[in-house]
Amino acid sequence: MTETLPFRYLFGPGPGNAYPEVMSALSYPVIGHLDRAFIDRLDRVSAGLRHVWGTANARTWPLSATGSGGMEAAFVNFVEPGDPVVVAVNGLFGERMAEVARRSGADVVRVDHEYGQPVDVERVLAAHPSPKVIAAVHAETSTGVRSDIAALGAGKGDALLLVDAVTSIGGLELRADDWGIDIGYAGTQKCLGVPPGLSPFTVSERAFERRVQDPRSWYFDIGLLGGYVGAAEGHTRTYHHTAPVTMVAGLEAGLDRILAEGLEKVWARHEAAGAALRAGLEAMGLELFAAEGHRLPSLTTVRVPEGVSSARVRAHLLDRYTLEIGAGVGKYAETVWRIGLMGPNASPASVTLVLGAVGEALA
Ligand code: PLP
Repeated sequence: MTETLPFRYLFGPGPGNAYPEVMSALSYPVIGHLDRAFIDRLDRVSAGLRHVWGTANARTWPLSATGSGGMEAAFVNFVEPGDPVVVAVNGLFGERMAEVARRSGADVVRVDHEYGQPVDVERVLAAHPSPKVIAAVHAETSTGVRSDIAALGAGKGDALLLVDAVTSIGGLELRADDWGIDIGYAGTQKCLGVPPGLSPFTVSERAFERRVQDPRSWYFDIGLLGGYVGAAEGHTRTYHHTAPVTMVAGLEAGLDRILAEGLEKVWARHEAAGAALRAGLEAMGLELFAAEGHRLPSLTTVRVPEGVSSARVRAHLLDRYTLEIGAGVGKYAETVWRIGLMGPNASPASVTLVLGAVGEALA
């Protein structure tokens, strides 16, 4: 017998709760992945993704993979053995990028930062005279920090700018074209308010022309993928893999929900929720972790007070309120909490609930 899992308030680093419209769309009938009705849906989803990415890139798709699959695709299509690749590392996901770049054969130049700090644009741009790729995470979920991607784009020169937008897409200002992002990957399970399983992916024509011709990954070869998901709308589609049709229906519902509200209003809603949460935590005497001025609205990091067991509080929140917050990462695993307010959870009601629950757990 399949067991129904309990409902949780997902106020951790992701996944967050999905928009109700998305959960309804997940029960639509399964349809063939080459059915005209599905191809039309895929085209609408690509158009919606262009909007949330802030791009006119024809090559914008929901990759059939989670965010880490998007990361793999981003590197394997653009990095060949010996290519110099500068990676800004200011958290766990920058670390992962450096590792994925290494496995793609890149000559990786790491620019390390203290956790909690944003990417130091000058150091990153000065790290190599002519990198093929400069890679950075826009919203570091492990530390709750936002970095200035526009400044990296302005100074990238001939390099391709590769950006992780997993915790920013659909919740924070993101302007791929204006900021000079050439290759971007994201995830559905955070501010888009859709369950995990797809990776919104975008590639500029400039980058596409410089892609690896015969990448080691067949599945993620964006040259082959274009024949199926569509390099441009309306052309004939050929089989590449069986798309997760149900997930794509869910993503369409999430994008529709965001577009109906208005993207900038959704950004403002996330900003307001993040600001209210930070103010409430500080009013309780708690200390925020991420550097001031660079704090993410979608993911707040806060230090666990001296003498308090992080695990005990998290277990209490789960048992009493069916509410999840995240532990910290790496050396901050026991000393930092991560509280995410993403998608439908970016709301005053969620702020009040999480502040009340944390306050009670600490009393
Ligand atoms: N990049 C960032 C910034 C993330 O927050 C995550 C997941 O939390 C990933 C990459 C990896 O995505 P996934 O866990 O969906 O593979």
